Amino acid sequence: MEFRSNNLLVTGGAGFIGSNFIKYILDKYKNLKLYNLDLLTYAGDLNNTKQFSANSRYKFIKGDINDKNLIEDIFSDYNIDGIINFAAETHVDNSITNPEIFIKTNINGVFNLLNFANKFWMNKPFKPKKKYAHSRFHQVSTDEVYGSIYTGSFSENSLYRPNSPYSASKASADHIVRSFNKTYGLNSTISICSNNFGLNQNKEKLIPKILYNIKNDISTKIYGDGKNIREWIHVTDHCKAIEQIFNNSKAGEVYNVGSENELSNIELAKLCYKIFDKKQNIEFIKDRAGHDFRYRLNSSKIYRLFGWKAEQSIHDFLKTFR
Ligand code: NAD
Repeated sequence: MEFRSNNLLVTGGAGFIGSNFIKYILDKYKNLKLYNLDLLTYAGDLNNTKQFSANSRYKFIKGDINDKNLIEDIFSDYNIDGIINFAAETHVDNSITNPEIFIKTNINGVFNLLNFANKFWMNKPFKPKKKYAHSRFHQVSTDEVYGSIYTGSFSENSLYRPNSPYSASKASADHIVRSFNKTYGLNSTISICSNNFGLNQNKEKLIPKILYNIKNDISTKIYGDGKNIREWIHVTDHCKAIEQIFNNSKAGEVYNVGSENELSNIELAKLCYKIFDKKQNIEFIKDRAGHDFRYRLNSSKIYRLFGWKAEQSIHDFLKTFR
C-alpha cells in the first residue's frame, strides 16, 4: 500500500497529535519521506519524536510555518508533494490571555503554507503541474469552529460560530483553505475533529492535568459547574481518519471526525478518580470566559465514504496509567 505523497511535509509534528501521526504513518508506509517542521514552542517536545527520529526516511526541521524563506527552501530542497498541517497554538486559555500569537500562527502561518503550495504545485488556477497533480494540502481543524450546541450535532454544512480567539483563528484558517481550493483549484481537504486523548499530550490539557493531580494528591480545578460536554476520541483514531481523507478523498472536501463518546468535564474527572481508586478531590472554579457548553459532531460522512469509525475507549486508555 502506498501513501499519497512521496515527500510529505508534516508541520507541528513535535506536538501531541502530529507526533502520533508521524509514528503511525512511518510504521505503515515505506514509500514516503517525511519532513517534520516544528518551531518547538512550549508545546513542542522532541521527546515525542524519539520513537522515530532515527528513521532514515524522517527529517526534523526546526522553524516557523510563517517563515517565507524557510518554507520556500523546504519545498524546493525536498520536492514536497503533500502537506498535513498540525502546527498551531492550541490552548484555549492561552488564547484568552494572549490572542495575538493565535492569529499569527493559526491564520497567517496557514496562509503562508498555502501560498507556497500554490506556487510550487500549480501552473495557473485549476491547472496543477503534471508532476504535482496528486499533491494535497490537508488542514487539521477542530470541532470548536462550529461553536456550542445544546442538543443534536453539527454536520459539515453547519455554520461556523466560533466563540474563543483559538476557535476563531482555526475557523479563519479553514475559510482560507477553502478559498484556495475554490479560487485557485488547490487540492485541499479539511478534517474537523473532537477532543483527543492519548500519549504525548501537553500537561496543560484536561486529562494529563487530572492524572497529574491524582498522582500528586493535588485538587483538580474544574471550570463552572463541570457540566460542559466534550466528545472524546483516541488520537490514533484521529490519525487513521486523516490517513483515509488524505489518501482517498476528493479535493475540496471537509469531514467531521468524532467518536460519539460524550462526557461532561465532571464525569471525566470522576471517572479518572474511580479508575485510580482515589477519593475525589475536585474544586469548582470561576467559569472560563466564553466557555462553550457542548460540542458534538455528526460524523456520518466519513463513516459512509471510508468505513472509518473510532475504535478505542477512553476507559481502556485511562486504565493503562494505573
Ligand atoms: P499541540 O499544542 O500539542 O502541538 C502543536 C505543535 O505545533 C507543537 O509541537 C508546536 O511546537 C508547533 N507549533 C506551534 N506554532 C508553530 C509555528 N509557528 N511553526 C511551526 N510549528 C509550530 O497541539 P495538538 O493538540 O497536537 O493539535 C494539533 C492540531 O490539531 C492543531 O491544529 C489543533 O488545532 C488540532 N486539533 C487538536 C485537538 C485536540 O484535542 N488536541 C482536537 C481537534 C483538532
